[in-house]
Amino acid sequence: MVLKLYNTLSGEKEVFSPLNDSIVGIYSCGPTVYDVAHIGNLRAYVFADVLRRYLELKGYKVKQVMNITDLDDKTIRASKEQGVSLREYTDRYIRFFFNDIDLLRIRRADVYPRVTEHIKEMVSMVKTLLDKGYAYRKDGSVYYKIQAFRDYGNLAKIDLSKIKAGITVEADEYEKEDVRDFALWKEKKEGEPFWETEIGEGRPGWHIECSAISTKYLGPTVDIHTGGVDNIFPHHQNEIAQSEAATGKRFVRYWMHCEHLLVNNKKMSKSLGNIITLESIVSSGFRADALRYLFVSSHYRSKLNFTWESIRHAENTLDRLNNFIERLPGYESDALDSEEIARLIRSTQERFEIEMDNDLNTPGAFAAVFEMIGRVNTGLDEAKLSTQDARAVHELMMRLDKVLDILSPGKKEGLSEEIEALIEERERARRMKDFKKADEIRKRLEEKGIVLEDTRTGVRWMSKFIK
Ligand code: AMP
Ligand code: ZN
Repeated sequence: MVLKLYNTLSGEKEVFSPLNDSIVGIYSCGPTVYDVAHIGNLRAYVFADVLRRYLELKGYKVKQVMNITDLDDKTIRASKEQGVSLREYTDRYIRFFFNDIDLLRIRRADVYPRVTEHIKEMVSMVKTLLDKGYAYRKDGSVYYKIQAFRDYGNLAKIDLSKIKAGITVEADEYEKEDVRDFALWKEKKEGEPFWETEIGEGRPGWHIECSAISTKYLGPTVDIHTGGVDNIFPHHQNEIAQSEAATGKRFVRYWMHCEHLLVNNKKMSKSLGNIITLESIVSSGFRADALRYLFVSSHYRSKLNFTWESIRHAENTLDRLNNFIERLPGYESDALDSEEIARLIRSTQERFEIEMDNDLNTPGAFAAVFEMIGRVNTGLDEAKLSTQDARAVHELMMRLDKVLDILSPGKKEGLSEEIEALIEERERARRMKDFKKADEIRKRLEEKGIVLEDTRTGVRWMSKFIK
């Protein structure tokens, strides 16, 4: 069966075939570590995780690279405000990031290159762009000359001539020759970190990191590049311009973008003040894997409107799935093996693959699974299912769960009531300015594996034990 993936570049579902038979390269735009991720960001990472796992189920070996933006206006500003070094500041948010993705069962990428550790590679690419005439210097900065790249606009489907001078693409850059050009290298500024390099003293612009890092770890051409739809323009369009001009080769073969997560039908974003974090979901008593289920069960190219009702519903469905899976291993009956069940298992597996092959149509894949569960449950209730058939259904569910990773039979996960009570007690102590007591409770929580850390928006906890 052939896998088809929707490619933003062509606007069509295309048959997937990797450049190199033995390994698929995936580059995923990663987090800017200046604050904890909101669940909109997390949706983009869950999508990339399902993609990777499905490719593996189909027998591909995958190498996935995700950059960590630990250097930009926001991280610099926030670290200064808090009076800590950029490294110390970003380290903290990197820990939160890994905690979130672990809770969501997102498999780790093969490498997480940090921007601050790849300045050399970025400088080298900027130099090449200068040498080839795609970039120019202005004062101490370097800009990409959009006019020089013939295909500019191909991904975002924009007509350059329609972007009028005066409408700034990036408002903070006004020293450019053409308002549409973007910064590759920013001149050193007072009070900001900078690097002494062949192209001058300063720091990289935002877009160059993904081009340079992806070339270093995956070569000039990547099979699949993922991100959220808001990355399409200008970020991914600029990545294409940088990479293809520098290497002379096609940069990405399949561009895949995850749609927005909405709250009350508006995009979740800081500026709208409608941010929900994974921590707030778990603190409200829901399990992290309910959020994973909510994401995985909707199609990545559909907008998803988050409501508390939807997470409640997701958790109930997940409970039903887990209850079902728990019944199977210990089930015994005298019933004979049935050809009908064997057919059902085969057709469910086939339908699962047909749906997933169709641009990762997870809602369709779940429909096939639920239909089977309905029929098997009846067999279990009436003891008409054979012991062997129950084992075979169990085996299939476990196989499919290698992609979905939502099941946790036998485990009731989440924050225990005792820990929740301790966190609340500590908050109360802090509000009453009883810091001695608050510290004592912090220690007790640490003994239980819960670490509290201060963030820009208040205290949050982390645990390696909660799934
Ligand atoms: P950032 O940390 O802002 O660079 O974003 C990390 C990833 O999250 C990017 O791939 C974004 O496209 C994606 N993203 C941001 N907001 C949303 C949202 N509301 N829904 C889905 N993805 C989002
Ligand atoms: Zn990127």
